[in-house]
Amino acid sequence: MTLTLHVDGDRWRAHLRRTVEEMPGIAPVVKGNGYGFTPGRLARRAAWLGVDTIAVGTYEELPEVADRYDGSLLVLTPWRPFSPAVDPALHRRVVHTVSRLDDVAALAERQPGARVVLERMTSMRRHGLGRHDLWEASEQMRRSRLRPEGVALHLPLTRGRHLPEVRRLMEDVVGAGLARLPVWVSHLTPSELGTLRAEYPDVTFRPRTGTALWLGDRGALRVTARVLDVHAVERGDEYGYRSRTAPRGGHLLVVSGGTAHGIGLEAPTGDLSARSRAATLARGGLDAAGLARSPFWIGGRQRLFAEPPHMQASMLLVPQGAAVPAVGDEVDVRVRYTTTSFDAVVVS
Ligand SMILES: *Cc1c(COP(=O)(O)O)cnc(C)c1O
Repeated sequence: MTLTLHVDGDRWRAHLRRTVEEMPGIAPVVKGNGYGFTPGRLARRAAWLGVDTIAVGTYEELPEVADRYDGSLLVLTPWRPFSPAVDPALHRRVVHTVSRLDDVAALAERQPGARVVLERMTSMRRHGLGRHDLWEASEQMRRSRLRPEGVALHLPLTRGRHLPEVRRLMEDVVGAGLARLPVWVSHLTPSELGTLRAEYPDVTFRPRTGTALWLGDRGALRVTARVLDVHAVERGDEYGYRSRTAPRGGHLLVVSGGTAHGIGLEAPTGDLSARSRAATLARGGLDAAGLARSPFWIGGRQRLFAEPPHMQASMLLVPQGAAVPAVGDEVDVRVRYTTTSFDAVVVS
């Protein structure tokens, strides 16, 4: 009621098309909250983009995207014997990631003919096979009834500094006899991808990309909340679940957006240095009264929570003298898209 993600449709779609052109072979990632858009919406958008593969984070996410997109479905979380079984209707579309030697045989037994990407450990150290295990897994795959679909390299977020590591890992990929299959990579820039394609002309690099695709043009996105109520308060008036008293006169604003949407006490932006806090204290500002910054912006300024956010709404304190919006007005909100559930996504 209503935290809304507004999308400038023309601008967003133009950015998506440009990114797909810049990153040939891209597998859009549609996991989690779908980067704020919902996975289902992104799956349909991926179909519109004409890609042959999308990536989900977990097996649990498959049902939400499988009937909105009809290409291959790469699961990024490595398969484990305790992973939920895949609907047999999806067996031909799902590509599993395997990151431990033992799982090669276990998956072959569970789902003969399964499509598999072998994950090589990187400096991320999250999941992956070591050099020798990659070679061994490749040998086992040759003997098993699994369908090899390439090698995965999940690289850290160090933009533009991946090449030495990728070159080292490519030696292992070549050594394991896997270089004729695609190499699925994460977090390489278009220019790094270009360099690698020139250095390894026979290898197909396939970038698995979410943020740079869906959220790559922030100017196309805007988040707003509705003002649900406005109450004038005087210094000392009681309010809220915790019966605080207003440290100054002004207005209490009730706006849509609370903990259930992922609205938290910590705002993602703003100067929180000791120096700026000291300056605020000296001015006797509202945060000196123990009020925390909110992600809601009104009149060009980041406002303070009057108390911690509620489940679906938040109370803000707007000090005397500041412009007061009316009930029904929309105010700007700055949130992390990957941790926010919007009530509505409006694409123009
Ligand atoms: C989430 C994820 C990605 C996509 O990350 P972005 O930063 O959103 O592009 C790529 N690869 C793996 C293995 C992931 O888990």
